[in-house]
Amino acid sequence: MVSMEKDRLEWPKVRELMIPAEKVAHVQVGNPLEHALLVLVKSGYSAVPVLDPTYKFRGVISKTRILEETLGIEEFELNHLSDTTVNEVMDADIPCLKLDDHMIDALYKLIDYPFVCVTNEEDEFDGIITRRTILKQFSKHYHEIFKYV
Ligand code: AMP
Repeated sequence: MVSMEKDRLEWPKVRELMIPAEKVAHVQVGNPLEHALLVLVKSGYSAVPVLDPTYKFRGVISKTRILEETLGIEEFELNHLSDTTVNEVMDADIPCLKLDDHMIDALYKLIDYPFVCVTNEEDEFDGIITRRTILKQFSKHYHEIFKYV
């Protein structure tokens, strides 16, 4: 929760706002694209985190990436769904957050992404924080913030 203590604004930490790992749909690096597409379509999400067998965060796979991969010159090449693995197609160059980062750190990173993954020092996956969560926090607390301005 955002609170004002004298002149200091206390922002909640990422650990208070994130969706914990056990509630986040994910796929594994070695899964074929068809499995990732199934998870994406069934869950309704546009992208989900990619983890390795030791639960380390490796990247993000999206419906858009999978469609790009399967789109050939003139037609969709659906065989790519079974003969290509997630790690060949995912976005690996993605910023992450730490549990003790503040909401404002999340806000900066969420400008460019609908969600950002939270990892520990060993890159193990702790959860995600979404743009929706941050917007809801701002919506909920803006009176609290601006009554002091
Ligand atoms: P939202 O802000 O709730 O619309 O979520 C934005 C994006 O975050 C979704 O499109 C998904 O890519 C991702 N996301 C949100 N919640 C989950 C979840 N429980 N499991 C996996 N991905 C999620």
